[in-house]
Amino acid sequence: MSVVSLEERRNAEWARIRGRLRAEFGDGVFRSWLRPLTLKAVEDEAITLCVPTRFVRDRVSTLYGDRLKELWRAEDDTIGTIDIHVEPEHAGRKPSLVAAPPQPEVESERDDAWADGVASPLDPKLSFDNFVVGKPNEFAYAACMRAAETEAPAFNPLFLYGGVGLGKTHLMHATASAIRQNFPEKRVLYLTAEKFLYQFIHALRAQETVAFKELFRSVDVLMVDDVQFLCGRDATQEEFLHTFNALVDQGRQVIVSADTSPTDMDGLEERVRSRLGWGLVVELNPTNYELRLSILEAKAVLLGLKLDERVLEFVAQRITTNIRELEGALNRLAAYAQLGGRQITLETAQEALRDLLRASERRVSIEEIQKHVAEHFNIRLADMSSPRRARAVARPRQVAMYLAKHLTSRSLPEIGRKFGGRDHTTVMHAIRKIEELSAADNVLAEDIRLIRRVLEN
Ligand code: ADP
Ligand code: MG
Repeated sequence: MSVVSLEERRNAEWARIRGRLRAEFGDGVFRSWLRPLTLKAVEDEAITLCVPTRFVRDRVSTLYGDRLKELWRAEDDTIGTIDIHVEPEHAGRKPSLVAAPPQPEVESERDDAWADGVASPLDPKLSFDNFVVGKPNEFAYAACMRAAETEAPAFNPLFLYGGVGLGKTHLMHATASAIRQNFPEKRVLYLTAEKFLYQFIHALRAQETVAFKELFRSVDVLMVDDVQFLCGRDATQEEFLHTFNALVDQGRQVIVSADTSPTDMDGLEERVRSRLGWGLVVELNPTNYELRLSILEAKAVLLGLKLDERVLEFVAQRITTNIRELEGALNRLAAYAQLGGRQITLETAQEALRDLLRASERRVSIEEIQKHVAEHFNIRLADMSSPRRARAVARPRQVAMYLAKHLTSRSLPEIGRKFGGRDHTTVMHAIRKIEELSAADNVLAEDIRLIRRVLEN
């Protein structure tokens, strides 16, 4: 007769219990909540289980604690207590600043079919773990973490805003993924405002607005990225507002991002604006030196790139626009290091980043844009602000407005004023027109590229 140790017996029991839990609660729940549990101490009458975070422990105890106890007692009715301890390292993950829920090892096989074609895909690399926190973004980060960890919305809506490349989309993806992991039963719908618009228009055309409304109103969490895109699109705004109201009234979480605060958003109906500002409005501020340096350090590690601290400091000092540009700079250095097969010095860094540094330093003015565009299309500078509407002058003027929007940080009303006191809706129309035309017309797209290159040099 073989002698089975207590430990072996407990392990076998635990394996059976895990099998039952998986069968009872399904793969999704099991993967997110129950698999992280490990059997720790083995004693005669007490069982100790471990989990990586307090958050997981609380969820497991509340939702599955009783069932766990029943299953253990069914195996061995002498068992008295079951303790769940928090042990951050046991899953082999580095402890992060704020305890994050465990990442599933395998792509989760959640039942997402309901959102097929409606949701925008989530990039798993845009996680809380990969988000470097500093003064400029700590508030936004904390608000998103909070939204990802609470069952009922703490603030509704959560409105994130900030300039290009400061981490809005990153935080939105991180939040959506974390909610899905923390609450596998919740329906989380993340999409860009552009996609919302597209689907709304499609639903109108196909006379499927009822289905559209039903789908959007059935979610637990609605996240819309870049809502400034809805400015000036009245019917879509209206629909968005209805969806928004329906969800908020039922206590469902709504999270949106935009490039400006609700109060500064042009072309937004007053009702929408005020509704968007109801909850918590948080800003992603422009980066500071410390944040840039931490981000560079973190990303260099991810890229397996060993860089002299002085090179990192140099980049953090000189590339100040946004985080996307910082990443661009780092990728450039990585490529240089690989191609050249040598250590990057301060000099090679300057060489490799020359054009980026110039672009980062230059502040293009609207006047310069008007001047170059007028020259390029061979019209008079005065026509940039004249009331003439002939296409020969109107089109270049629209190009200049488009470039003013993309190359300066001026608001639409400010741009309008510089073009002979035009209304901001005219500017908006111009920008859309040029976006549309340049997507279809290679010659125009090339014109724009050329002018940009001149302006950015
Ligand atoms: P936005 O949506 O505000 O324009 P993104 O979220 O797309 O900006 O961010 C631009 C790039 O910078 C992305 O690759 C993102 O992963 C990265 N990024 C932004 N903020 C951070 C951060 N705090 N830590 C690490 N990477 C970041
Ligand atoms: Mg974005």
